[in-house]
Amino acid sequence: MMLIPCPFCGKRNESEFVYGGPVGAARPDTNAVSDADWVEYLTITPNPMGPVQERWWHARGCGEWLTIWRDTVTHDIVEVPDGSD
Ligand SMILES: [Zn+2]
Repeated sequence: MMLIPCPFCGKRNESEFVYGGPVGAARPDTNAVSDADWVEYLTITPNPMGPVQERWWHARGCGEWLTIWRDTVTHDIVEVPDGSD
């Protein structure tokens, strides 16, 4: 079980959240990208080892979106939101 620190609700079980994906995936230029690269952008989620900045939606709580840094190896939250996000 992973506890995610919501700036409004405190530490809550991950089952209350919906994963929103990694932050920073650059959207390719739709006029210049190949079909294969576009499909890859839409369907492939990067999953590197180590700290990753991610978006999470507190769907079964306050309804706010959070940005956290999570280590994908240990699932430790290495940087918490400050509520200004
Ligand atoms: Zn919340």
